Amino acid sequence: PKRTQESVEKSKQTSSPVAGSSSPGPGTEKHGAEMPSEKKLCFKAAKEHDIPEDLAKVLENKVVERRWDLYYINMSVVEMTCLDDANGEGIVSKSVSSRSDLIPGVYEGGLKIWECTFDLIDYFSEAEIQFTNKTVLDLGCGAGLLGIVALKGKAGKVHFQDYNSTVIDEITLPNAVANCIGDSSGTGSGGGGKTHKPPSKRPKKAECSPDALTKCRFFSGEWSEVSRLLFSSNKPFSKYDIILTSETIYNPDYYTALHDTLAQLLDKNGRVYLASKAHYFGVGGGIYLFEKFVEERNIFRTSIVKTIDKGLQRCIMEMAFKDSS
Ligand code: SAM
Repeated sequence: PKRTQESVEKSKQTSSPVAGSSSPGPGTEKHGAEMPSEKKLCFKAAKEHDIPEDLAKVLENKVVERRWDLYYINMSVVEMTCLDDANGEGIVSKSVSSRSDLIPGVYEGGLKIWECTFDLIDYFSEAEIQFTNKTVLDLGCGAGLLGIVALKGKAGKVHFQDYNSTVIDEITLPNAVANCIGDSSGTGSGGGGKTHKPPSKRPKKAECSPDALTKCRFFSGEWSEVSRLLFSSNKPFSKYDIILTSETIYNPDYYTALHDTLAQLLDKNGRVYLASKAHYFGVGGGIYLFEKFVEERNIFRTSIVKTIDKGLQRCIMEMAFKDSS
């Protein structure tokens, strides 16, 4: 059928996060034909990723770009050598720009920055969310910009989780390093990155030094497995004051794992800030479906604290335990 420009635009905006796209930045999703409606969750084992001692090596062969006061690796030039999974399946060698044949349950969309990440960053400054000394988790982090903003906001601890270990090694960790090294040098971490002037409403640049990396931990794996790892690890673990999560509720098959992970990991008086599109066509998830799911579980109270009505509706939801202060 003939598609109007409007329907083409709409399908771009509503595509599933797992459909894949090469371009980081908001509003750049491409429509993927391979909507994972039959997708079932793989229980990918959890792993903690150590921060290499040689930080410069982490940024080797990476192109670092800058948007406002945030540094990030140009993902379109990251050549993926391996989208690993726990069973050793799905070893693929693909450039990020041609990943239309991604295997459902193997890659979960962490190789680009999804637009709700920027909605949530905007919301932090509008609502004056305080990260100082807080223990923060960026859940389903991809590039990890939410956690990096928390780190710049003087969070006490920031943990990053992504489904794919390759995303953590090749994108999240380098981004955290770039923001720590980049800030301390004041010149960026090299690589011929672009700079964009910050709009006045953006949060002011906060200091972040390489020492800030000692506050960070990086995990890959499926949510319930990561939760299990945190509780069973020898390292001390305290529950999170703030859990940040963007574009992670596209697939209703994952709602139980996500909900239970939030319930296990959030401090009794903690807050979850969740950014999502109203609906993800093709996969079926969305903010209202998740809201209903959470309501039925009767553990959290939810409140939609911001709605963005440009194109497809997007929302920010705050969650807290029903019996919290
Ligand atoms: N938050 C990033 C952003 O806004 O740019 C990435 C969003 S990406 C669409 C969805 C993220 O959720 C992926 O990074 C993936 O690792 C994570 N994810 C989705 N389902 C997951 C699951 N069942 N277990 C663990 N992580 C999952």
